[in-house]
Amino acid sequence: MSGKPTMRARVNDDPFVVEADFYSITDDARIECRICPRRCRLREGQRGLCFIRAARGRRMVLTTYGLAAGLSVDPIEKKPLYHFLPGSSVLSFGTAGCNLTCKYCQNWHLSRAKEVGLTSTHASPEKIASMAAGLDARSVAFTYNDPTVFLEYAVDVANECRARGIFSVAVTAGYILPEPRAALFASMDAVNIDLKAFSEAFYRRLTGGHLAPVLETIEYVRNETSAWLELTTLLIPGENDSDQEIEALARWVVERLGPDVPLHFSGFHPAFKMLDHPPTPRSSLVRARRIAIEQGVRHVYTGNVRDREGSTTFCHACKKALIRRDGFDVVVVEMKPDGSCASCGARCPGFFQAKKASLD
Ligand code: SF4
Repeated sequence: MSGKPTMRARVNDDPFVVEADFYSITDDARIECRICPRRCRLREGQRGLCFIRAARGRRMVLTTYGLAAGLSVDPIEKKPLYHFLPGSSVLSFGTAGCNLTCKYCQNWHLSRAKEVGLTSTHASPEKIASMAAGLDARSVAFTYNDPTVFLEYAVDVANECRARGIFSVAVTAGYILPEPRAALFASMDAVNIDLKAFSEAFYRRLTGGHLAPVLETIEYVRNETSAWLELTTLLIPGENDSDQEIEALARWVVERLGPDVPLHFSGFHPAFKMLDHPPTPRSSLVRARRIAIEQGVRHVYTGNVRDREGSTTFCHACKKALIRRDGFDVVVVEMKPDGSCASCGARCPGFFQAKKASLD
């Protein structure tokens, strides 16, 4: 890995092209990308499936370094992160491209964009970190597409942010190989991983990826890093919302991650190539939440729907409401600044002030 963002050399003097950190050259002289499990093998001039990595001059390059799309300030709850600095602002952006091909992509205009420059703002890592500071954002989020595909840029932005006391948040599908995974998540303070379903068939048919590498990444972030972790599953009617699948997913979460990793079920809206499916009914989200709680997940939320109970953080010990949310309005009702319950003293897992709470 290169260290400081400002030290990255540009390829062919193109301000937005840098040499990739993870690739190899194959015996038949192709360039093999070592970022995600696809391991695209490219001949000179070809682009990977994500479109923003390419083989140029016997090197793999990233072609969107410093091209930020969708720069805007969001509430941290929108990522969604409910146990990480609740009520704070986050400067969010993505780039073009994606390493999955989800047929229902909710951000397809970015993930499948081919005219990268048209949708983007020129923003160096230093510029993004100073924008975040100027806007009073506590953190910067890599979101909309997936920081996996713009890893070098995301890591450099995160380093700049860390130097200024600004946190970094990755919103990702977790489809990444072990070496870049370590590099990416070492720079992150909080991560929301999109666990798209709990079936290999779903991943293969609707995302173009596989389930196992995603589960590995989730376990890695939970067990091998200090980043705060939450999970999101978008429920699509008839595809991944059966009682059995939700039960199996929640059981896996409790067994492999423990009961304190928050789980968000969010509602699907017909998009991209899946306009034929109806939106997720509120009842499915409420049902999924109930099943996950029955399986032992302590903090389960519903998203993209009005649900007072499903958007409230409850104390796992005395069941009092600690934080209430209405849309993106956040009201802390029974929580002390350190994240403990004002009523019974039990510690709510998460990152509420200066220190990260234990997940035990
Ligand atoms: S990151 Fe892009 S180029 Fe690299 S293996 Fe994945 S899809 Fe292919």
